[in-house]
Amino acid sequence: MEGPECRFIAKALAEKLTGKTIVDIFVRKPSAARYSKHPLTNLKDKKVRGVFCKGKNIVLNCEPYFAVVHLGMSAYFSAKAPQNDKWFKSVSFSIALNTGEQLFCHDERGFGSVRFFMPGEEITPISELAPEVFDAEFTPEFFLNKAKGQKTEVKPFLLNQKAVCCGLGNIYVAEILWLAGISPFKKTCDITLDQASRICESARVIIAQADYTGTSAIQTIAKNLPRGGGMSSCFSIYQKDRCANCGAATTCARQNGRATWYCSFCQKEGW
Ligand SMILES: [Zn+2]
Repeated sequence: MEGPECRFIAKALAEKLTGKTIVDIFVRKPSAARYSKHPLTNLKDKKVRGVFCKGKNIVLNCEPYFAVVHLGMSAYFSAKAPQNDKWFKSVSFSIALNTGEQLFCHDERGFGSVRFFMPGEEITPISELAPEVFDAEFTPEFFLNKAKGQKTEVKPFLLNQKAVCCGLGNIYVAEILWLAGISPFKKTCDITLDQASRICESARVIIAQADYTGTSAIQTIAKNLPRGGGMSSCFSIYQKDRCANCGAATTCARQNGRATWYCSFCQKEGW
């Protein structure tokens, strides 16, 4: 799950929930609340004042209460009641609204979570995050400052939501490093000011494009449709056979257990 995808979902949830009251919550998979200090039943009788997104977290603002939803790998929301047994079994929780509407969170793989926060409690999933790529704070100088002494490779550094920026996942980090012409295996501490500038700029370009087209979100949703999943044609390097810049065959390597696509000609490690 990537930041643009979460923003897309948060926007849809804001339209659906804002101004309405949660009259009941049914937790069908208790593991969804594994990180929450308080039972999710606390959401009952809370009015939703808005929904926003930070990084990959979707925040239900029921001021002075807050609930933070993380969709994990592939959880999603549906306003339609499950039509068959398999679909019903994937529901991790559902909420009922004062309007009579219902909302179902489906999480087949179980990586998603919801945390409830009492008034005045620090909303740690948000407060611990690094800035988003569009925040004024995310500059090449900020990047270098955070990169100082970091022996980690640049791809996991960009994926770490607390390190330098938040909201990036495996797909867009591959696209960003390709656009910036930086090897995903480059040591973070070896990044120069010019390279940091290219990474910051590329991150804004790729994420703006994703926000505009909804690429990744559409791909996820499309998987459930008969002719879905074709949106990967929008990518330049991720899951591509050929580099969109030089035409050479791409390389797919394992890096910290994740698949990493790159072009060994356009993203040389020594650069
Ligand atoms: Zn290339």
